[in-house]
Amino acid sequence: MSYLDLENISLSFDDKLVLNDISLSVGKGELVTLLGPSGCGKSTLLRTIAGLEEPKTGSIKLDGEEIQHKRSRERNIGMVFQQYALFPTMTVFDNVAFGLKVKKLDKKIVQEKVDTVLSLVELEEFSDRYVTQLSGGQQQRVALARALVVEPKLLLLDEPLSALDARIRKQLQLEIRAIQKELGITMVFVTHDQEEAMRISDRIYVLSEGKLEQASSPNELYTQPKSQFVAEFIGDYN
Ligand code: ADP
Ligand code: MG
Repeated sequence: MSYLDLENISLSFDDKLVLNDISLSVGKGELVTLLGPSGCGKSTLLRTIAGLEEPKTGSIKLDGEEIQHKRSRERNIGMVFQQYALFPTMTVFDNVAFGLKVKKLDKKIVQEKVDTVLSLVELEEFSDRYVTQLSGGQQQRVALARALVVEPKLLLLDEPLSALDARIRKQLQLEIRAIQKELGITMVFVTHDQEEAMRISDRIYVLSEGKLEQASSPNELYTQPKSQFVAEFIGDYN
């Protein structure tokens, strides 16, 4: 049974078709990656799922419910971007708690929830630091904690590790995967990096110029590419 279902999503900017009749599904607790070169429409597709872009046609269902006509903040979908978009003048704790403010929760409950996610990303010791005192990798873990603290139904990650150096990037790939499994949370992860997609995903959707080329397990994508585009794109991976 699928948890997130996109059917026939198309979207144009000006006269340019950026998403071309995209249908995909993600199971509950699955980590699915959208993989493709720069400009192929990955961010636009994520923004469409989040309700930040309106498709010309198509439907989006999450957890059995049509969400296409719901406003973005009513969809209960979290997002993490390449740029962390944290508040530099706030502590780690306050950055993470920020997402909970609108919920008007008891202070003790806020404390508990923030502590729980900070320990999940192994930053409990950094709670009182300002985010500007943290490394890039640590800042991205704060962004992840802030997205998780509201317990979204779905977490979308748009090239979250692309600004980090190779060693930290590999470490965070493993951490994100471990957290995703521990929480059983459904994730859609976007990257242009084949190796990253291979390492982190249950399944991969390859996109080229707004069209889905192939949906497969990482291994199958490598051994049984369905088009020359996929073969060449994945061929860069070794
Ligand atoms: P990716 O994330 O895969 O690099 P994007 O989804 O950002 O690709 O962009 C897909 C295409 O849509 C690109 O050609 C880009 O220039 C275009 N595009 C993205 N956002 C806009 C916008 N707001 N207005 C016009 N064109 C856009
Ligand atoms: Mg992008």
